[in-house]
Amino acid sequence: MTNLLKNYNRKKISFSRGSGSYLYASNGKKYLDFVQGIAVNSLGHSHPKLVKTLSAQAKKVWHVSNAFTIPEGEQLAKKLTKNTFADYVMFQNSGTEATEAAIKVARRYFYSIGKPKKNRIICIKNSFHGRTLAAIFASGSKKMTEGFGPKIPGFDHFKFGDHKRLKKLITKNTAAIMVETIMGEGGIKVIPDWCLKGLRKLCNKKNILLILDEVQCGIGRTGEFFAFEKSKVKPDIVPIAKGIGGGFPLGAVLMNKKVASGMTVGTHGSTFGGNPLAMTIGNKVIDIIFKKKFLNIVKKNSSYFHNELHKIKDEFPKIIKEIRGRGYLIGIQLHGEQTNFIKGLMQNKLLTIRAAENVVRILPPLNVKKIEIDQALKIIKKVCSKYK
Ligand SMILES: *Cc1c(COP(=O)(O)O)cnc(C)c1O
Repeated sequence: MTNLLKNYNRKKISFSRGSGSYLYASNGKKYLDFVQGIAVNSLGHSHPKLVKTLSAQAKKVWHVSNAFTIPEGEQLAKKLTKNTFADYVMFQNSGTEATEAAIKVARRYFYSIGKPKKNRIICIKNSFHGRTLAAIFASGSKKMTEGFGPKIPGFDHFKFGDHKRLKKLITKNTAAIMVETIMGEGGIKVIPDWCLKGLRKLCNKKNILLILDEVQCGIGRTGEFFAFEKSKVKPDIVPIAKGIGGGFPLGAVLMNKKVASGMTVGTHGSTFGGNPLAMTIGNKVIDIIFKKKFLNIVKKNSSYFHNELHKIKDEFPKIIKEIRGRGYLIGIQLHGEQTNFIKGLMQNKLLTIRAAENVVRILPPLNVKKIEIDQALKIIKKVCSKYK
């Protein structure tokens, strides 16, 4: 009998140790971990530099209130704004806090310029922005909101790709459009670059803010630091989390100077957000990922991974419908339900995780080795042939 709440359907397996791309289960078996805590362990398990950083900081200072100056946070904010669209950063502890904060920043901006009624946010139906009350109603998913009423007002929804409906939804009360640059939970659906450009233009024309949720697709996962960078579009507000802490809970919302002006003293706060322990680790993760060579290798090896997956798809067209995603945010969309396929991969010691639309989600660490990719490909192929 477990005293853990039953809000998860947990697999029986547990792990006692992790190293790089591998997890060692308590039953002695070794698994290739291409879940990595759902794109969280961006540098794999127990990265020696992160272990060293964490241990050293643990002996100095873990936590002080945001009532005091935290130099490690100043440093990380500097790194995150240098060479990006952002001018300011506000640290949180998780993705949903970051998206909530993004919504607050957008609304507060229009309030601060005397337009308090301009507060509605347009989102994609069945997207994912986290599990707090505002975030579930922003996601517009029946499954996530059922039983959690009253409905939080202020969100309007359009289906992925339904540009006509999106344009219809815009009124003088629209404050922002908030979308995931690449929908993660929703099935690894990429918003094409031309579409992001169109969104930016539309926002400029209608004086509304563009919020790009990069909680899952950001922090180097696509081979660019942010997934939207390839499109050259500059958003106004960007929530991040997952990969930035390398496994340590850390989130943030990044924003430009214009919208930051609304967030004056006392408008938002967080007890834990941005504490020295989290900031020190975040700094180390960023230092590693920001190296040009690092991201070039992500691009090169992930492109190899995609090419090989396409070959497997061509070999098994009745099983695999589509290869989705970019970089190391990969979705294998099956024709049928994915549960048994994921089980098959796991029996062959490859861990993956589901996403909507029959997608098997593959999220290796960003520093995955090519031979580990080959190992995964071999397992995927084997499971495909078993299902033929
Ligand atoms: C995971 C995720 C969130 C929520 O993050 P949590 O840390 O679980 O609160 C928000 N947005 C996107 C796009 C995500 O993938």
